Amino acid sequence: MPEPLIYDLGAPGRTGVGMPAPDVPLADLPAGLVRENLPLPELGELEALRHLTRLSQLNHSILTGFYPLGSCTMKYNPIVNEETARLGGFAHAHPLQPAEMMQGSLAVMYHLQEWLKEIGGFAAVSLQPAAGAQGELAGVLMIRAYHASRGETQRNKVLIPDSAHGTNPATSAMSGYRVVEIPSDARGNLDLEALKAECDDTLAALMLTNPNTLGLFEEQVQEAIEAVHAAGGLVYGDGANMNALLGIARPGDLGVDVLHYNLHKTFTTPHGGGGPGSGPVGVAAHLADFLPGPIVGIEEEGSEEMGPVYGWHQPPKSIGRLKAFHGQFGMHVRAFTYILMQGAEGLRSVAEHAVLNGNYLRVKLQGAYKVPYDRVCMHEVVLEGRWADAPDIHALDIAKRLMDFGFHPPTNYFPLIVREALMIEPTETESKEVLDAFVDAMLKIAEEAHTTPELLQQAPHTTKYGRMDEVKAARQLVLCCEIPKEVAVSE
Ligand SMILES: *Cc1c(COP(=O)(O)O)cnc(C)c1O
Repeated sequence: MPEPLIYDLGAPGRTGVGMPAPDVPLADLPAGLVRENLPLPELGELEALRHLTRLSQLNHSILTGFYPLGSCTMKYNPIVNEETARLGGFAHAHPLQPAEMMQGSLAVMYHLQEWLKEIGGFAAVSLQPAAGAQGELAGVLMIRAYHASRGETQRNKVLIPDSAHGTNPATSAMSGYRVVEIPSDARGNLDLEALKAECDDTLAALMLTNPNTLGLFEEQVQEAIEAVHAAGGLVYGDGANMNALLGIARPGDLGVDVLHYNLHKTFTTPHGGGGPGSGPVGVAAHLADFLPGPIVGIEEEGSEEMGPVYGWHQPPKSIGRLKAFHGQFGMHVRAFTYILMQGAEGLRSVAEHAVLNGNYLRVKLQGAYKVPYDRVCMHEVVLEGRWADAPDIHALDIAKRLMDFGFHPPTNYFPLIVREALMIEPTETESKEVLDAFVDAMLKIAEEAHTTPELLQQAPHTTKYGRMDEVKAARQLVLCCEIPKEVAVSE
């Protein structure tokens, strides 16, 4: 059956709500406030619900299938998070309520700050940033403020490995720094000699992702951090994906000075269309005064019965605010819930299973696909989506073909240093059966690439829309299937 356009549904005068007759005199709205020509569909509740449900089913989501999007940590978001976030005291709190009236909410934020400090090995945390990228901006602005406070304004460059996420160089450039790329070596580690050659008194920072985006633990992380510190630079840790480290290694202990966490990756708050991001930053003691604020502190220890009194606190040399009010509070409640439900042992087992699952896929797939850096991986594995004897097949074809098997494609063409990269992150929340089904599909696709390549090149075959022009789809976003002319005009 062809998909009905919402504009063809309904009938004039039909409505989904029954309003009581007004008991006040009707008045006209001020002229100019109401558009005369606004042909919106008039629908009953059931029609509207069916339309929205149909649309939601066109989308792949973690609730409908495996979503191995590397670096993005698309793990299951437990429903209990949603329950706590919807508790009236949290959901209905007004951000302008004074601290005395929000003690419960402040307690949640305070404990989340404390737990993130403990997990990352840091002296202080701010929950302000609204995304990983904004956490990075906070971190690099703090680094700049720190150097300025010491009169070291000649420090003008940031070192970034060539495997890094694109937000790292973007953040550094936005903060006024020159970006110097550090190559990776044959084992997929950052090239220590190249790094050392850049360690001089113009060095502001190294931005380091560990495990890096090849899914590999940086084997010389200690030496790299020492070299940067010896030159007076600071180390920024990109902690977007803490899945391999939880309860096992702490970036702060390794010497990282500042790091952002992605609550929407590691700590199961919703992702992308599902909800706003949240990218708290943790810092070592020498950066604590520069944190974006306000952050939550204890004002008075209080009585044993009532517990401490919490209040807002602006760090003395703060880089300022990054977000209206208190950051993404609903996400703080969800991450708080997740950490509380896991406990310390649960968090460690998250990391163990995330790494186990990553390696399970690596070992199962490495015969059929080339693993460019062939060593034990962490929470994700990067493959090459190409074969010398199937020259017309690209990573994109493999990714699209996976959709026919009911899987979301992995991240592809990133990291940039792997040709035709397929970056696969299974996460700890998937069962062995799901991983096996994914492996079967990948092996089948590898076979098809050699026997029936056109199946891959024309994929996907089972989705409502076939292969799209992805750039155009992102740049010219059309949210209404087909927009009637009357609606498309915007004066
Ligand atoms: C996702 C990610 C980021 C950016 O996080 P956003 O919340 O999308 O801004 C930065 N670095 C790495 C390694 C990431 O995976």
